[in-house]
Amino acid sequence: LGRRINSAVSDLTRSATLDEKAFDNMIKEICSALLEADVNVKLVGTLRKSIKQSVNFKELPAGVNKKRIIQKAVFDELVKLVDPHAEPFKPKKGRANVIMFVGLQGSGKTTTCTKLARWYQTRGFKACLVCADTFRAGAFDQLKQNATKAKIPYYGSLTQTDPVIVARDGVEKFKKERFEIIIVDTSGRHRQEQELFDEMVQIQGAVKPDQTIMVLDSSIGQQAEAQSKAFKASADFGAIIITKTDGNASGGGAISAVAATHTPIVFIGTGEHMLDLERFAPQAFISKLLGMGDMQGLVDHVQSLKLDHKDTMKHIAEGVFTVRDLRDQLSNIMKMGPLSKMAGMVPGLSQMMGSMDDEEGSMKLRRMIYICDSMTIKELDSDGKVFVEQPTRITRVAHGSGTSVREVEDLLSQHRMMAHMAKKMKGNMANMQRAQGAM
Ligand code: GDP
Ligand code: MG
Repeated sequence: LGRRINSAVSDLTRSATLDEKAFDNMIKEICSALLEADVNVKLVGTLRKSIKQSVNFKELPAGVNKKRIIQKAVFDELVKLVDPHAEPFKPKKGRANVIMFVGLQGSGKTTTCTKLARWYQTRGFKACLVCADTFRAGAFDQLKQNATKAKIPYYGSLTQTDPVIVARDGVEKFKKERFEIIIVDTSGRHRQEQELFDEMVQIQGAVKPDQTIMVLDSSIGQQAEAQSKAFKASADFGAIIITKTDGNASGGGAISAVAATHTPIVFIGTGEHMLDLERFAPQAFISKLLGMGDMQGLVDHVQSLKLDHKDTMKHIAEGVFTVRDLRDQLSNIMKMGPLSKMAGMVPGLSQMMGSMDDEEGSMKLRRMIYICDSMTIKELDSDGKVFVEQPTRITRVAHGSGTSVREVEDLLSQHRMMAHMAKKMKGNMANMQRAQGAM
């Protein structure tokens, strides 16, 4: 999608006559790219109008960078769509906060509820899980396994077949034990759709959740609108989690779900591991959707600066990206000057920098480098999995570098994202190098 939109914009700026007709054609091209990325048809129509309105082509002064203005307009309109402008649910310490998950089977509920419980656990909440999926054989086993790995207390039953009773009993038990975050996992499939919706309503009635979250697979596509509306009509959820954003799906469906239900996305799932959960950041999500976090651009830039990148280039060509490669890139970025300029080029960097200015940004980068420097050689040269296998390493590194667990986790998820892209780029880079005869 990003490539198509960017090339539509490039075509316009390249064409000799930069007239209104060319501009209209470009908008048409962008809209069809959005449709292809499964953004809802009606939404694309609205978007088209607002882009045309916000870029008043006739009145653009001569000499301005039209490409940038148009790109920015597309970006801003999409961000507006997913930005809820509402405070997300904030659980309170010292009392029970019940969170119920709903969503179709396979959307990622069971995986994500463990991730979320762990998220709160590392932030000082006493968290636990209740398995109210009595429909699917093996559902309780799956939750039990995940919870055990994450050291999170859980409740479920192998004999009780009524999910409403299991949910109520589990929540009651954990409330008595003074748990602060009680997450209720539910079933996603039934013989009949209506049965599923009835069950959700009954469980909601029994456990009275403080928040209901709908889990949506990012590859849902054009069905996103209908599905999220159907769920909203029965189990009125107050938040959405989008899973599998690490996959190939373009995520346009997610935008449609938000727009159709006026419900904020609170987290995104970025992989199968327990740590692969990130707070939803509208700008970063849209950058990724539009392909603006441009790894290739970074590689070109690093190459042109003749910085210390030999090993990294070789690694990327092999589809590998170690934690040390990330450290080298961070220190290169420090050398390259204005961070605000670099932010667009490094995937995730603009999200990381948020609204920080250059000074705060370079402080943050420095802290990331401290984190790397507190790692052992083995950890630095690893693919990062050792931290998932032994989470105590994270605590040790945080202590050693004078940073927080959260910062170390952020660095590791940044690394995972770049390693994932390196894997994808493997073929491209090998070809590029062959063509250049370099290295
Ligand atoms: P449920 O039926 O809704 O409970 O879904 P599950 O939690 O069982 O997940 C279904 C599948 O999706 C499992 O294989 C999970 O490992 C996988 N999954 C869930 N979230 C993610 C994610 O963010 N990324 C990836 N790659 N896989 C995920
Ligand atoms: Mg499940």
